[in-house]
Amino acid sequence: MADSLRTIDELEVEGRRVLVRADFNVPLSRSEAGGSIEVADDTRIRAALETIAELRRRGARLVLVSHLGRPKGIDQALSMRPVADRLAELTGAPVTLAAAVTGPEVSELAERLASGEMMMLENIRYEPGETRNDPELAAALADLADVYVNDAFGTAHRAHASTEGITHRLPSAAGRLMEREVRTLQAIVEHPDRPLVAILGGAKVSDKIGVVERFLELADVLCIGGAMCFPFLAAQGHDVGASLCPEDDIKSARRALAAAAGSSCRFELAIDLSLGPAGQEGPPARDLDGIEVPKGWSGLDIGPRTSAVYAAEIAAAGTVFWNGPMGRFELEQFAAGTRAVAEAVASTPARTVVGGGETVEAMRTFGLADRVTHLSTGGGATLEFLEGRELPGVHALMNTAVSAR
Ligand code: ADP
Ligand code: MG
Repeated sequence: MADSLRTIDELEVEGRRVLVRADFNVPLSRSEAGGSIEVADDTRIRAALETIAELRRRGARLVLVSHLGRPKGIDQALSMRPVADRLAELTGAPVTLAAAVTGPEVSELAERLASGEMMMLENIRYEPGETRNDPELAAALADLADVYVNDAFGTAHRAHASTEGITHRLPSAAGRLMEREVRTLQAIVEHPDRPLVAILGGAKVSDKIGVVERFLELADVLCIGGAMCFPFLAAQGHDVGASLCPEDDIKSARRALAAAAGSSCRFELAIDLSLGPAGQEGPPARDLDGIEVPKGWSGLDIGPRTSAVYAAEIAAAGTVFWNGPMGRFELEQFAAGTRAVAEAVASTPARTVVGGGETVEAMRTFGLADRVTHLSTGGGATLEFLEGRELPGVHALMNTAVSAR
């Protein structure tokens, strides 16, 4: 089904206005001197360059659109200005920033674009119709272009005017980044090189329980680390002390454990931990060779024996998917587990896919980001895709979807 993703190979773009939905939702910082706002990390802008360069080379007239933060109406602090400036620097070509998202002056700018030229619309979330998937906004966007390209995988799990509504009005296709994201995740779900080893950690079990249950069906080995361990350990009757372990998550964990019992997937939990005194993050770690967390202590990292087991699974894998740090890696004394997994991921011969905001951040911090087969740019979108949910922004780009041609 998903193999029929329409790509820009199928679009005629020469001399035509192409509306490109990118994910330019970058972190901003205020420069010390003049108080001007700058892009603090341009990774997401760089990620869109491949599609932008190809479309320009093919003679497209580019109208770029993205959201940035969560403005409530027009908010100059969340203008696309710094993004447009940064993109101009990266491409060495002018990027005209429109004063608004739509309107006669914006249309006029789009009309005047020559082949290979770029303009950028203002923050799409200045328009309340965006997140409501308002047909009028979709129509106004469609009026600015002849064809539509979506390269924003990170927002594909939302049916918004610029990600879904518009596809009913213009011939639509996936950009190169979107294409790579979808194909990589699809390969994990549909034809992974085995054994498929999933490493899941991080903080919010409630957000990730769907992925845990899906991997119990798909994977050969599922290793749980980070705060995710504790609801499972609590559900098995172990003491978790002051570790992060919401009551609701224990219920979800109980359900997943029942599923694990009937599954052929090997389910691994921490067998040792690194602890910190409850409520204090400064003091050094205390090692616990076991999993019964004493009162007044929190489990803040997996221990060395657990790390060794997970690293061995990763080394023997055909495919590895990793989401969620193994501990409070932001603190040096609790970074060892996450570092061990990161290093195992970097050195295994397996295909490796790493997703999640903090997890990708950890790979970068350790200087290992370029040793991963694929760093997924979507957080929620990546997890929803792996859960098997239909992403409206991706579904709309399938050949099977009803769309304007
Ligand atoms: P991602 O963004 O990669 O999907 P999450 O947002 O789920 O990951 O979780 C990341 C956060 O989880 C990190 O900030 C990390 O410090 C925290 N974390 C991991 N393990 C623990 C733990 N044992 N106790 C408290 N916090 C933890
Ligand atoms: Mg996160």
